[in-house]
Amino acid sequence: MEPMIADRPPVSPTDLVAETDPVLARIGNTPMVRLNRVLPDDVPRQVEIWAKLEWFNPGGSVKDRAALSMIREAEAAGRLEPGMTILDASSGNTGIALAMVAARRGYRLVLCLPENANADRKQRLRAYGAEIVLTSPFEGSDGAIIKARELAHAHPDYLYLDQYSNPANWRAHLRTTGPEIWRDTNGQITHFVACLGTSGTFVGTSRYLKSRDAGVRCVSVQPDDAMHGLEGLKHMESALVPDIYDPELADADLGAPTETSINYARRLGDSDGLLAGISAGAAVWGAVEVARRIERGIIVTVFPDGADRYFSDRHVWG
Ligand code: PMP
Repeated sequence: MEPMIADRPPVSPTDLVAETDPVLARIGNTPMVRLNRVLPDDVPRQVEIWAKLEWFNPGGSVKDRAALSMIREAEAAGRLEPGMTILDASSGNTGIALAMVAARRGYRLVLCLPENANADRKQRLRAYGAEIVLTSPFEGSDGAIIKARELAHAHPDYLYLDQYSNPANWRAHLRTTGPEIWRDTNGQITHFVACLGTSGTFVGTSRYLKSRDAGVRCVSVQPDDAMHGLEGLKHMESALVPDIYDPELADADLGAPTETSINYARRLGDSDGLLAGISAGAAVWGAVEVARRIERGIIVTVFPDGADRYFSDRHVWG
């Protein structure tokens, strides 16, 4: 089975009206590729593993979908007008996505970000004109969330998007990621595997896929330990649990080890020609775990961003 992306009509980024901005209209409809040489020999021959390459979005990550959806839903509800200030907390990708969409639309963005976010991320955010409020490196993304709540309270005129509680986050994936996967597998998908950050990708895509075929098994992947190195992912047991997270959707929930995930991410480059980010390595790990437990099937996962986001973290790609 080969997805024929060029032949297919685009899925609208929202169900409101078609996006007219030529840059933002490029969000979604990312390529889906089958994984080959990166897979271990014990993956059964009749199991296919496919990945959606989200760094093809104009802002470079899966979070473009959520950022556009949250901003468009706020606009449609009459809560955003040109010149207004948007506020949120992000450990990286959502911030960059929001900064891009805000700059295209003419909004100011204030973003709370842990101080230890890498230099490349801060540079990208500033390049898009975002104003960064740095929070304690010891409190991680939770510290940034707490700061954003304080700012929202102090500035009632700001629109606090709150990606962790905003249903427009997961609805982005209900409207786009889910339908794209269904279309590109001709409805043949048997398993969906996704990593958990805000959980928007997992929740929205799983809801769509299960609405098309209740038999699709949805598997969430989170770090196996509170002290992990999988940027963008949340260890739910020890973190502030996002309001939008619905653990009931998961037919299984797997704990990814940091080292093995990083190794998969690194090997994707030379084995399959895919320069994917670290959480993509965790997604491969999860998909392989699922593959080992079945005899045949079509597993689809999501690669949230590309390796270039991590090149300034020397410990991974050197
Ligand atoms: N991987 C990376 C690198 C991310 O930045 C994110 C978003 N925090 C995710 C995975 C998880 O996506 P979601 O927020 O939709 O769960």
